[in-house]
Amino acid sequence: MSIIIIGGGLAGVEAAWQIVRHGQRVILYEMRPHKTTPAHKTSYLAELVCSNSLRSKEISTAVGLLKKEMHHLGSIVIEAASKTAVPAGKALAVDRERFARYITQKIISHPLIEIKREEVKRIPEEQVVILATGPLTSDSLAEHLREITGQEHLHFYDAISPIIYADSINMDIAFFASRYGKGRDYINCPLEQRQYERFYQALLKAERVPLHDFEEPKYFEGCLPIEVMAERGKDTLRFGPMKPIGIVDPRTGKQPYAVVQLRQDNKEGTLYNMVGFQTKLKWPEQKRVFRLIPGLEQAEFARYGSIHRNTFLDAPRVLDRYLRLKRCPNIFVAGQLSGIEGYVESAATGILAGLNAVRYIKNKGLVVPPPTTALGALVTHLTNTVSKNFQPMNINWGLFPKLDKKAPRKERGKLYAHRGEIDFEAWLKDALL
Ligand SMILES: Cc1cc2nc3c(=O)[nH]c(=O)nc-3n(C[C@H](O)[C@H](O)[C@H](O)COP(=O)(O)OP(=O)(O)OC[C@H]3O[C@@H](n4cnc5c(N)ncnc54)[C@H](O)[C@@H]3O)c2cc1C
Repeated sequence: MSIIIIGGGLAGVEAAWQIVRHGQRVILYEMRPHKTTPAHKTSYLAELVCSNSLRSKEISTAVGLLKKEMHHLGSIVIEAASKTAVPAGKALAVDRERFARYITQKIISHPLIEIKREEVKRIPEEQVVILATGPLTSDSLAEHLREITGQEHLHFYDAISPIIYADSINMDIAFFASRYGKGRDYINCPLEQRQYERFYQALLKAERVPLHDFEEPKYFEGCLPIEVMAERGKDTLRFGPMKPIGIVDPRTGKQPYAVVQLRQDNKEGTLYNMVGFQTKLKWPEQKRVFRLIPGLEQAEFARYGSIHRNTFLDAPRVLDRYLRLKRCPNIFVAGQLSGIEGYVESAATGILAGLNAVRYIKNKGLVVPPPTTALGALVTHLTNTVSKNFQPMNINWGLFPKLDKKAPRKERGKLYAHRGEIDFEAWLKDALL
C-alpha cells in the first residue's frame, strides 16, 4: 500500500524519505512545473523560495537543537544542506540550486517513490495521506480543505505580533492589570505624552519589509499593521491598540496617556505577545522602535511581528496531537500548512508525519517526542496552544517547558539543549521501527 504525499516541498520530501527508509511505497504529487506558486521559480522539489539559510548551527539555539534531532532521524534536508553548504559563520546556509537538485535527484531516483507532476484538487480521503502543500497551497485544494475543516479554520494571511520573553520586561515600570480593574491578565507598559510622541514618530519613519508582488496590501481592518494604523493619524493608536482607558498606573495612581498591552502567550507564562502590534517593519527596526516603549527597553524578542500571504490551519482546533486532521485520522498535515513557520520547522514536521504514517499503516502506536525536545516542543505548541488567535511560530526556547532551576539567560540555551538531547535519545529508541 502506498502512502500519498501531496506537495514536494521541504516537508513533503522529508516525509517521503522517512517512509521509504522504512521500506514503504510513496506516491508524491507535486504540481510544479505545470502549475506553479507565486514564489517558486524552478521545478525542483524542496526549492527554498527566499533566503538560503537554515539558520543557526549552534546547538545552544533552539533551531540548532532541532536540526540535530532531524539529523538523528535521518533527515534528507540536513544531509543535502551539509553536502551543499556555503560559508555563513554560525549559520547553516546552502547553495540553493545544488541543495534542491541534490534532494530532487535522490527522491526521483528512489525505487519506492513514484512522482506525479499534477495538481491535486481534492484530498483522497479514503487513503493514508500526508498533506504538505505549504503556505501557497493551490486555490482548489485550499477550498476543499476548507470544506473539510470549516471555513474559519484555514487562514490565507498571517498577522503576527511580536512575542517577548517575560523575564526581559522591566516590571518596575510595567504592571499587571486588566481594564477597569477586572483582573490582572495583561502586562501593561504605560506611556506619557512625550514618550508616546517619540514612539509614534519613530514608528512612522521605521523601515518596512517590501511586499512580494503577490502580496497586495489587502489588510483586514481587524489586523492592520501597527504602522499603517499610525499613518491614519496621531491619535489612531491611542484610540486603538494603545488605548489607556480603564487602566491605572499604580506608580502614579493615574490613567497613562497611552498603554501597550502584552498578553500571555504560552502556558508557562514565559512568553507575552504585544496585543495588536502585527507589523511589516524590518526585524532590526522592530527591536529599535519597540524598545522605545517604557518597560521594553531591554526586551528580548522570541518572535518578531510579520504579515505574510500564508495558508495555514488553526492547528490547536483542527489537528490532533499527531498532526492529523481530527475529522480524518488517516490524513496527516505537515510543513507550513500545519501552522509552524520556517524551512527547518517545516522539514522537521515532515519527518514526523512520515514516521507516523508508516506506524499508522503498520498498526503501531503513533509517536511524538517529549516537549523537552525541539520537535516535541514544536508539535506541542501546534496542538496545545491556549491563544484564541493562533498564529504560526518559529521554534524558540519559549516553547519548551521551563528549566527546573533558575539560570542566567546566556546559560539557558545550553541547559535546554542538554536536557532535550537526553530526552530525545531515550525517545528515539522506542520511536524507530
Ligand atoms: C514568499 C515566502 C518566503 C519565505 N521565506 C522563508 C525564509 O526565508 N526562511 C524560512 O525559514 N521560511 C520562509 N518561508 C516560510 C516557509 O518556511 C517556506 O515556505 C517553506 O518552504 C515551507 O515548506 P513546506 O514544505 O511546508 O511548503 P513548500 O516548500 O512551499 O512546498 C509545498 C509544495 O506543494 C506544492 N503544491 C501546492 N499546492 C499543491 C497541490 N494542490 N497539488 C500538488 N502540489 C501542490 C507546491 O508547488 C510546493 O512545491 C517563506 C514563505 C513564503 C511564502
